[in-house]
Amino acid sequence: MKAVILEKQDLLENTPLQIKEIPMPEPGSHEVRLKVSVCGVCRTDLHIAEGELPAHKLPLIPGHQIVGTIDGLGTGVTRWCGGERVGVPWLYKTCGKCRYCRRGQENLCDNASFTGYDADGGFAEYTIAPEDFVYRLPENYGDLEVAPLLCAGVIGYQSLHATGLKDEGRLGLFGFGSSAHIVIQVAIHQGLEVYVVSRTEKELTLAKALGAHWVGHIDDDMGVLLDAGIVFAPSGELLVESLKKLDKGGRIVSAGIYTTPLPGFDYTLIYPEKCLTSIAHTTRDSVQAFLKVASEFKIKTQVNIFRLEEANKAFLAIKNSSVSGSTVLKIT
Ligand SMILES: [Zn+2]
Ligand SMILES: [Zn+2]
Repeated sequence: MKAVILEKQDLLENTPLQIKEIPMPEPGSHEVRLKVSVCGVCRTDLHIAEGELPAHKLPLIPGHQIVGTIDGLGTGVTRWCGGERVGVPWLYKTCGKCRYCRRGQENLCDNASFTGYDADGGFAEYTIAPEDFVYRLPENYGDLEVAPLLCAGVIGYQSLHATGLKDEGRLGLFGFGSSAHIVIQVAIHQGLEVYVVSRTEKELTLAKALGAHWVGHIDDDMGVLLDAGIVFAPSGELLVESLKKLDKGGRIVSAGIYTTPLPGFDYTLIYPEKCLTSIAHTTRDSVQAFLKVASEFKIKTQVNIFRLEEANKAFLAIKNSSVSGSTVLKIT
């Protein structure tokens, strides 16, 4: 089968992603094989390719927003028959035994493994996943439009949940890429007023079109203070700047797995009772909860489509912000 292989972490300008012909993978015990249709590209994939995150497995097939059809069953599989359309997200497997797993925080599992990081992912014609960590997808979406929901969507949803906002309040989104352009639709659907900060005019235009109440740059005056914010851009400086926009008792959630160091800041940025926190990965429950929300109304994903052979080009397009919305590789 054809697969995108990362042999060695390197700057994307040096084309670390190469397309290769490799043997088809066989599902093991309690695993299923998917014939991959589409796999979304996430910023985390860029951090893995370029080495901002340490390598866990090399050579590696990246990709963790996988949409495909089950075409092979390992021994002992009971949840699937074959032929179902399913998705595989970032959380590949958890131990089920550690204290985090036992108390319902499997996203913090001590022994978790991740798709396209610890295990080969979806930038290939076929991939393998544990049967308990694949999901039926809402039928009101095609393969191309559902792929970005699997990480960008789920992470945005988990971040929104972590802000504590329910059906009213002012929510700031800092950085407006793949995840933000999905969560803004969920937030507005819930009744929140959304303020979007980005450096990129293209992103601000998209935010406005998706219903943002206010759009602008970080130094612009919003005219109000926010009840909560989600920071998507991997910038410690932006995290600190976002705190300056926050009202008393407000909360900033960092959605990223990686960010540049935070500069020192004055205590008044977290006083009184302002909170700066982060979310890490997702649980199976939050994936299910988000897919349910997505089935209840149509989230419009703006998708930039590349071929499998164009993986490196697709990654560079995200790195250089030359695309807005979500980026996917169409595989079959
Ligand atoms: Zn991701
Ligand atoms: Zn665990």
